[in-house]
Amino acid sequence: MPSWSTVRDDFPILHQQVHGKPLVYLDNAATTQKPRSVIDALVHYYERDNANVHRGLHALSTRATDAYEGARARIARFLNAADPAEIIFTRGTTESVNVVARSLAHVLKPGDVILSTEMEHHSNLVPWQQLARATGAKLRFVPIVGADAEGGLDLAALDRLLTPEVKVFAFTHLSNTLGTINPIAELCARARAIGALTVIDAAQSGGHAPLDVRALGCDYLVLSGHKMCGPTGIGVLYGKRELLDRLTPTETGGGMVVTVHYEDATWKPSPERFEAGTPNIAGAIGLAAACDYLDALGRDAIARHDHELGRLAYEKLAELPGIRLIGPRDGRSGVVSFAFEGVHAHDVVTFADEDGIALRGGHHCNQPLMRKLGLTSTTRASFYLYNTPEEIDALVASLRKILKFFGVS
Ligand code: PMP
Repeated sequence: MPSWSTVRDDFPILHQQVHGKPLVYLDNAATTQKPRSVIDALVHYYERDNANVHRGLHALSTRATDAYEGARARIARFLNAADPAEIIFTRGTTESVNVVARSLAHVLKPGDVILSTEMEHHSNLVPWQQLARATGAKLRFVPIVGADAEGGLDLAALDRLLTPEVKVFAFTHLSNTLGTINPIAELCARARAIGALTVIDAAQSGGHAPLDVRALGCDYLVLSGHKMCGPTGIGVLYGKRELLDRLTPTETGGGMVVTVHYEDATWKPSPERFEAGTPNIAGAIGLAAACDYLDALGRDAIARHDHELGRLAYEKLAELPGIRLIGPRDGRSGVVSFAFEGVHAHDVVTFADEDGIALRGGHHCNQPLMRKLGLTSTTRASFYLYNTPEEIDALVASLRKILKFFGVS
């Protein structure tokens, strides 16, 4: 069992004052902070091993290649993938979804259905809209239940929606706005039963919960390194080997080809066929260091910690006058969103910042969901492994001050 109080010592950035107050960082759904071991892995790479991968025979290039491919193998282990070749490095979740969606442009046809849910981040929505437009496929959405989406996804509606025309079912594991934890194993099993491909958006769960792609039986899973203690600019597209080798690459160029003639070229198998050009070598190495860090703490323990803080925050915030909390009451992750009638989220975030508290206000890249809930924005507090119950108290005290200032009581 990790000691959560010493975990904070691993994160240099947390030990600072903002506007004269100790930093309370509650914007983890946007991006997480980096432990010393990840920062050290980046520095070590740039100070000792930096060279381009795959193309050199000199010592540094060999070390850089070993470290880069070692990172791929580490992430395969992190997700329990069958083969490191199933791990494609991308810039992040957004690019990963785009790669899958664009590469399916040759597979889908008019009348096919792309199924998603009403709670998706724009990054797991807009690329599917583009695919639908390009192929004539239709988009459908699993509805959310309840005026505050407190009931999660309408699983009963799945029977009606999972028709043989559904070729792809793309859904989020944890909602970045609602804090909902979706039953991804069940969603994968039900999609598999009708032969639909499954795409899991694990942007919010990558470093927050155990993930086992083989046990889930998903076809694709996407995540972002920066939301799980890793660097920005690196992410993962996991795909089943036999599927990846059939996909058409969406970017072409150096590194992904076998033979090139003036008029034509042939592609390498995955993962290289999806990694044209010089990759983010340092980012991959930093992400592998993040996997080591998270696994040393234990992802089950991290999930319990997140959920406990999410539950505690929800309970304490519910006592504030005029608050509307969205998402589930029970069984929630560490993401908590709320709105106050008459006080805009941007004002809440600006005032909280004066108290050293980092929150996020806006639509959280969930415009259709916001519209559905009759909101334009919410304030979001999102917790991670270094957050404490005392920080929730600081948040509640700051919010009380803000409400008083705006005359809400
Ligand atoms: N999906 C979800 C659920 C997210 O929370 C985010 C980031 N907020 C994304 C996708 C996009 O991730 P990125 O910006 O790292 O590509």
